[in-house]
Amino acid sequence: MALIEIRGLAKEYKMGPVTVNALNGVDLDIERGEFVAITGASGSGKSTMMHLIGCLDRPTRGSYILNGRDVSRMSDRELAIIRNREIGFVFQTFNLIQRTSAIENVAVPLFYARKLGTRGLAMEALTRVGLEKRAHHNPNELSGGERQRVAIARAIVNKPSLVLADEPTGNLDSRTGEQIMGVFHHLNEQGVTIVLVTHEPDVAMQARRVVQMRDGRVLRDAPTSEVYGDRAGQRLKVGENVVTG
Ligand code: ADP
Ligand code: MG
Repeated sequence: MALIEIRGLAKEYKMGPVTVNALNGVDLDIERGEFVAITGASGSGKSTMMHLIGCLDRPTRGSYILNGRDVSRMSDRELAIIRNREIGFVFQTFNLIQRTSAIENVAVPLFYARKLGTRGLAMEALTRVGLEKRAHHNPNELSGGERQRVAIARAIVNKPSLVLADEPTGNLDSRTGEQIMGVFHHLNEQGVTIVLVTHEPDVAMQARRVVQMRDGRVLRDAPTSEVYGDRAGQRLKVGENVVTG
């Protein structure tokens, strides 16, 4: 059984008299341990898809089975528990709490999970992203790449099976984005399933599978090697640029 099984997923947003069909019947399976990039033009439904996969919202139609459980039918409370235990989120804008140290930011999901020993667990997560030396710095004392690494540490602190990232390198220069991709590779090698939204080919080609969206539908779903040929799986060396096209 796949980690994620999506069938006929649709999402409509009602704005007064207008209905926006953000998703129009998506079928998608994602196995445990995959590294998937979701690409597509702005407005194609990528973020809507991530919100549904992340249990932040419910579909208008269709079913979504996560880890064998039908999340399209769960209560808000059940969804909150799934989000906290099973899913880590990384956003383009980091979404850290200002004037609060890195380690305290990382510990936030542990409080919701009512875990003990939060300091040790938060430090362990910071160490996994190579930021243990910055544990007591506030976000405004960290670089963009370091802030995103704190956000990744927060996403993995409850040891979720799934990490979702919506344009995680969108606010970073390419070299820093490369380091962030290195962190995702590292997590994926440790068995974490990664689903990442990006419109940057340099980023998408590092995944093992690319799901291209258009108008709320999956236009193409293929191994990265089919989409990008020899450049697939290529990890840029720091400072190096790859010609895209
Ligand atoms: P992407 O992330 O690929 O840019 P989105 O999923 O954000 O696409 O948006 C898909 C479509 O749904 C767009 O037409 C967008 O305007 C619309 N949309 C997204 N979120 C909302 C919302 N909360 N209310 C109304 N329309 C929305
Ligand atoms: Mg988006």
